Amino acid sequence: MTTAAPGVVIVGSGLGGYTLARELRRLDRDVAVTVITADGGEVYSKPMLSAAFAQGKTIQTLAQKSAGQYAEEQGISVMTRCRVAAIDRQARRLILDGGKTLAYGRLVLAVGADPRPYRVDGSENVTIHTVNDLDDYAVWRDGLIPGGRVLLIGAGLIGAEFANDLATAGQRVAVVDPAPWPLGRLLPRELGDEMARALEGIGVALHLGRSLVRVEPGRAILDDGAVIDFDKALSAIGLVPRVALAAAAGLAVDKGIVVDRLLRTSDPDIFALGDCAQTEAGPLPFVLPLMAEAKALAATLAGTGTPLRLPALPVAVKTPALPVAVCPPAPGAVGEWVVEGDGRDRKALFIGADGRRLGFALSGGKAAERQSLAKEMPDLL
Ligand SMILES: Cc1cc2nc3c(=O)[nH]c(=O)nc-3n(C[C@H](O)[C@H](O)[C@H](O)COP(=O)(O)OP(=O)(O)OC[C@H]3O[C@@H](n4cnc5c(N)ncnc54)[C@H](O)[C@@H]3O)c2cc1C
Repeated sequence: MTTAAPGVVIVGSGLGGYTLARELRRLDRDVAVTVITADGGEVYSKPMLSAAFAQGKTIQTLAQKSAGQYAEEQGISVMTRCRVAAIDRQARRLILDGGKTLAYGRLVLAVGADPRPYRVDGSENVTIHTVNDLDDYAVWRDGLIPGGRVLLIGAGLIGAEFANDLATAGQRVAVVDPAPWPLGRLLPRELGDEMARALEGIGVALHLGRSLVRVEPGRAILDDGAVIDFDKALSAIGLVPRVALAAAAGLAVDKGIVVDRLLRTSDPDIFALGDCAQTEAGPLPFVLPLMAEAKALAATLAGTGTPLRLPALPVAVKTPALPVAVCPPAPGAVGEWVVEGDGRDRKALFIGADGRRLGFALSGGKAAERQSLAKEMPDLL
């Protein structure tokens, strides 16, 4: 009797894991594909989480399909609420919480990232929420009261989106960030100041250039002595790629799980993509790079080695108060911002030392130029 060879096992049912499963099935109708996930395995759009409240979306309407529906539709197996505790590379199997094992032929890590923990004096006594998946979002939305006071820590991309969404939905939002303007790492000052005006225009109280020195249940104290009273607190200070499983298995990790152009880790039978991976262009925690990774990796797993290629990929920031699109220069790029326009409609180009355009940021009516401008930018890979 012959036993079927273990197929492709994907850890993670986020956009990375599920897009890969779909692309692989499109190219190979026969290979056995198993997705194993610590969460409920629902198909949902994570970017919607920071824009859902004002649109009246609920947990039920955010989940587009159940894990079972997706499994049937794609002809794959999905194991939900099942956490992988370790990778036994020698025996080519996963060890699951509870001790069961699962054999793999080729393994793909699509395990995402963890919210960066926020710590300040007193934070151990206060619930400071983070939102990075549907389960977190359900807990966050539960108990938000109409007209409630929200303390939002972090005015980066996700923080600004939540501020816009919550304020539009009638919450009274106070944002604290040590940076002098919102999206401080993505926008030059002129556009950042416009974003600040736009958020204030919809009622958001901004405490920029400020930090919390202490938090108590319902009350936060800032370094300028200001006090913010709140009903619920949300931290949006960034994500840290989940590397623990890979590191414990002896795979190369740095900021993320290190992969080559084939999305291969330091073990040729183990691959990684999405928020957990560190490509040759660095960690790329956005949807468009992840889609390109999934397509390239599916082709490789289906038998045609396909190196990842990435054009410049702009990100549209979901702040209807001031639409913004950004295409940041590569980390460490040397150059300066040149800003055109005034008021809400601005176009900022990041010009390198050799005069080349390396990145851009667009606001208001100019944001619509993002696709055409992206074509002029250097490839990421
Ligand atoms: C609020 C918000 C808004 C965003 N908006 C945008 C946007 O507008 N545009 C954009 O481009 N990007 C946006 N992003 C980023 C984008 O959503 C992510 O880059 C992308 O969804 C990451 O997908 P992923 O599959 O890599 O990770 P995840 O979706 O985090 O999936 C990780 C999966 O791994 C599973 N897992 C982890 N550890 C284990 C384990 N040990 N065992 C089993 N399973 C495990 C989890 O259960 C989960 O299923 C946003 C992110 C957030 C949080």
